[in-house]
Amino acid sequence: MERFDVNTCNKVGEWLRKEVKKIVIIPHVNPDGDAIGSSLGLNDVFINAGFDSCVIVPNDYPNYLGWLGAKDVPFVYEQGIERCNKLIDQADALFYLDFNDIKRLGKLEAHIRSVSKTVVLIDHHPTPEIKADYMFSDTNVSSTAELVYDFVDALGMLEHLSKIGANALLTGIIADTGSFSHNASRPSMYKIVSELIDKGAEKEKINEALFNNFSEKRMRLLGFCLSEKMEVYPEFKTALIWLSAEELKRFDFHSGDTEGFVNYPLSIKGIVFSAFFMEKNNQIKISFRSKGSFATNDFCGAHFHGGGHRNASGGESLLPMAEALSLFRSLLPQYSERLEEDC
Ligand code: 5GP
Ligand code: MN
Repeated sequence: MERFDVNTCNKVGEWLRKEVKKIVIIPHVNPDGDAIGSSLGLNDVFINAGFDSCVIVPNDYPNYLGWLGAKDVPFVYEQGIERCNKLIDQADALFYLDFNDIKRLGKLEAHIRSVSKTVVLIDHHPTPEIKADYMFSDTNVSSTAELVYDFVDALGMLEHLSKIGANALLTGIIADTGSFSHNASRPSMYKIVSELIDKGAEKEKINEALFNNFSEKRMRLLGFCLSEKMEVYPEFKTALIWLSAEELKRFDFHSGDTEGFVNYPLSIKGIVFSAFFMEKNNQIKISFRSKGSFATNDFCGAHFHGGGHRNASGGESLLPMAEALSLFRSLLPQYSERLEEDC
């Protein structure tokens, strides 16, 4: 595998064979399709290869990802802290998937900081802040799931990837590329997709689970956002949607319901930057998306305590909603040149 240095892979392979029995795989807080898919895919390989492996997610994951957990349901840290701490304490190896900073572990951060374990990082976010013993970080790939496939391949362990694992990895790729619509122009990704389908992954079923699996209330919330709550600033090629806690309650909000809302304004001709603000647990969770060269992760890192990828990032604000929105709107003029670069 050219992506991975052969010596490092040999070292990891030998370490796994000789010293590792118990493995804990951990993705980021508010896990999305790639976080869950890449974790369950790797877990599938490890379990089938005879390791004692499990996945611990910091907090609950959206319903639409539930079908993936048919066999290997992840432990939810916030729902069983003592049990999860014990699993982590007993592990020989921790695999961190789909995040680049320990701060992205929510309530799990404190315990992770208190233990000393051999850590393997597999991730596709820029500038990793994590000190890992083995680091597999590549920002060119579509998803962490794609990287996990290459990692497993480089270790010669693909024979242990079952249909369940193949479905999980393909879910990660489809989720992070919006069904092959962005970050999906590299031929090598399609080779992996082809191998996963060969192993039994069900593309149509995954699409159904990710994109056609919502409640009536969620569809009405989307309609409400687009017709009543979307602000469009054509002079800055920007659009903004925001939701208050009261509005979320009115539409019977469940975790994951607003996933993808931030993408819709980008289908307006001329809009290259989209922001979505929502009140969650007494703070504001923010998502940013862009098309082309505008770096949302830089914008988010500079003003909204977050980061991510160039075209997809997230952060938060402790300001009241009205002030956070005013701050966002007031920042646009100073970014107008950079927003102008794309059409
Ligand atoms: P989303 O908008 O779907 O929550 O997140 C989009 C991207 O931004 C993901 O790649 C995610 O890892 C990253 N991201 C989301 N929230 C945060 C955050 O609070 N901090 C950082 N550093 N990255 C985030
Ligand atoms: Mn990802």
